[in-house]
Amino acid sequence: MFSFLAVYIFIYSIGVVSYNGIHGCLKCTTKGEYSYSSRTVVFPETKALLRTDQKFRLKKYGGHHKGTETPLLRISELDMIQDFIISDSLHLLELGVVKRCLLGWRDGTLGLEGKLCARDINKISNALPREIHRPMRSMNCLAFWKGVEYRSFLNYVGIVVLKDVVKDHIYQHFLLLFVATKICSCDIYKKYLSVAQLMFETYVEQFKNIYSEDYLTSNVHNLVHVVDDVNRFGVLQSISAYPFEHALFQIKRLLHMGNYNLEQVVNRLSERNEIILSNVRHSKKLLPSNINKRGNVVYFLSKDGLYLSNNMKDAWFLTKTNDIVKMVTALPENDKIKIQGHSIKKKEDFFKIPICSSYLHIFCADAFNLQMLTFYNPDDIFCKLVTIHYKDNISVFIPLHHTIANY
Ligand SMILES: [Zn+2]
Repeated sequence: MFSFLAVYIFIYSIGVVSYNGIHGCLKCTTKGEYSYSSRTVVFPETKALLRTDQKFRLKKYGGHHKGTETPLLRISELDMIQDFIISDSLHLLELGVVKRCLLGWRDGTLGLEGKLCARDINKISNALPREIHRPMRSMNCLAFWKGVEYRSFLNYVGIVVLKDVVKDHIYQHFLLLFVATKICSCDIYKKYLSVAQLMFETYVEQFKNIYSEDYLTSNVHNLVHVVDDVNRFGVLQSISAYPFEHALFQIKRLLHMGNYNLEQVVNRLSERNEIILSNVRHSKKLLPSNINKRGNVVYFLSKDGLYLSNNMKDAWFLTKTNDIVKMVTALPENDKIKIQGHSIKKKEDFFKIPICSSYLHIFCADAFNLQMLTFYNPDDIFCKLVTIHYKDNISVFIPLHHTIANY
């Protein structure tokens, strides 16, 4: 974790121009142009020559270099191009491209003719689920959405609530971003990374035609470099700034006055560590249990941290044989746990272009058309599913990223 933190800190001191400068791309030699329409530098060229560590160290990139020479050059093992991450999903995707698109669709500020009407904005707002991580607020509050709300929109909700609302070519364009991001988010989809690269490139190319060259900002351009980062460092979640933003927020909350900031933080952290240690000592006296029951609600927690419950929000999981199951209860049996649930009778791909959604374990189905009650072992579970209502009895089932990683 420290190495990534170090990269985020040092990226501002590697002696290059800002990301929105004419020669601002850290990865390739594309040359930006100032757009008087969007009042920012844009990058219309998608496939420019990639920068190399050797040429960077020889200062061959003219206007890209800026200021005094960075001491990082003394580390010969460091690749001055490839070892600097641009694919932080929080700033590149969620607060970058996705926020820009949502604001553009709502307000008509993305070079589109027209904008979403009030009826469509309400339709999307009303379809936004309240139960993913953090409740999602209406589209009228976009300016106040947190990064996690944009993340939920990109990774789970967007493909369902946008369908039948935005124009088909805009929806298909968004699907490219969704699928490419999904592939870059889970290790088991790594075999499709070359496909994701093509999708990101197509997304950026089409962005020019659907919206306008005037909105091809550095965030949109950098999408063509995401797969290289994922290949080198791992899936998007492992190179995201979310943990650091969260930690900084927690540290900020420890401050109660304007002076002696460092002393305040050190004292509060010491006090908190003491409380955590005493809780650990206390919890050792409790019996470990994977099943908990409160009234009619049964909770099940696997050894890998997978949490299921028999309420609608947390009940759904996918088995290793691709059955969608709704948990009804969990029962102890000798030293093991048996999960009782109904599998869904019939499921289909939710989309077939750019690839079949079932390749990413995404399906649509009638959530009320269920088989007889069956027993499952915790080892049968492939991942937990997020359920988004589509229309009538049909819901869309999407794997929850971090639960796939445990299996
Ligand atoms: Zn570039």
